[in-house]
Amino acid sequence: MPETNNKPAPETHRLTDRFNRQITYLRISVTDRCDLRCVYCMSEDMKFVPRSQLLTLEELYRVAKSFVEMGVNKIRITGGEPLTRRGIMQLFQALGRLPGLNDLTLTTNGTQLTRYAQALKTAGVTRINISLDTLQADRFHEMTRVGDIQRTLNGIDAALEAGFKRLKINTVILKDRNHDEVVDLVRFAEARGMDISFIEEMPLGVISDHDRQQVFYSSDQVLQDIQQYYETIPTTETTGGPARYYRLNGSQSRVGFISPHSHNFCEHCNRVRLTAEGRLLLCLGQEHSMDLRRVVRANPLDEAPLRQAIIDAMEIKPKGHEFDLSSQPVLFRHMNVTGG
Ligand code: SAM
Ligand code: SF4
Repeated sequence: MPETNNKPAPETHRLTDRFNRQITYLRISVTDRCDLRCVYCMSEDMKFVPRSQLLTLEELYRVAKSFVEMGVNKIRITGGEPLTRRGIMQLFQALGRLPGLNDLTLTTNGTQLTRYAQALKTAGVTRINISLDTLQADRFHEMTRVGDIQRTLNGIDAALEAGFKRLKINTVILKDRNHDEVVDLVRFAEARGMDISFIEEMPLGVISDHDRQQVFYSSDQVLQDIQQYYETIPTTETTGGPARYYRLNGSQSRVGFISPHSHNFCEHCNRVRLTAEGRLLLCLGQEHSMDLRRVVRANPLDEAPLRQAIIDAMEIKPKGHEFDLSSQPVLFRHMNVTGG
């Protein structure tokens, strides 16, 4: 990866799909592996992609750079657990120097943040989403199958200390598992000046732990729980994605809802996803994709074919997703492959 690069990004092609949606946001899954096994995300015995099939850090950078040169100004690094990928800081450092990239963000389970928070800030990461579904140690262990809550809590403290522009908790609520902690989690976030987003479970991948329909707890129910204790003020803030945001009266914190079931979010979709194997997914809830690994590897010294493949992929971005909890699973790939 290049050491320095401070020329402005050359103006080239802008990425627009058939429905006139401009693509400005790329999410990159840098690994499908993880040090946790959350019950809604993975099955107990996951098979992971052989390392040789993953894009190398250099290949990830090449793809990211091409996207940025075509108008993408926001990149989120996710996984799997991105901070378990060996050498990952090199990628953050290289992306942090990329002209035209305004927002470099990360989604993590927080277990490695005591080690990396400061270096991520120095590399230019602006915001971090940290997943936390419960404040109770025994539940955390159950919901992640293997995790120790203290590592994630220490990671959150380290991120707060490092001084990021914005930190957010991501929470998946499952009925009779952690739905009684909605307000506690909001208080936790608020007390630390963090935002919190509640995510409805999505039917990605076969899981054995529970019936997704039975544990469904809608965003509207979560909002009602919060409104028993807080006055919420709807905002028009948007990231071009699925989240709807509310402000808590008298607080800096925002509460977001990602509700693929109860609210359609496709009309203004501005994003695409790159899997760790280099498959460009045009929609979280559909299989339309383009194999960029093949293009990158066939053309190690020429970026033109890669750019053309990305431009061509815009033609197959579908209009929207079709999640339906009653016909499971809608998609056989797990969230750790997609990069949530
Ligand atoms: N390991 C990191 C983490 O947990 O934050 C990043 C990857 S994880 C796949 C990204 C987000 O997806 C997490 O907030 C997680 O809670 C969420 N997630 C995983 N499986 C999901 C599912 N089936 N439905 C909804 N959200 C899911
Ligand atoms: Fe790992 Fe994140 Fe999936 Fe949990 S949600 S198993 S932390 S990738």
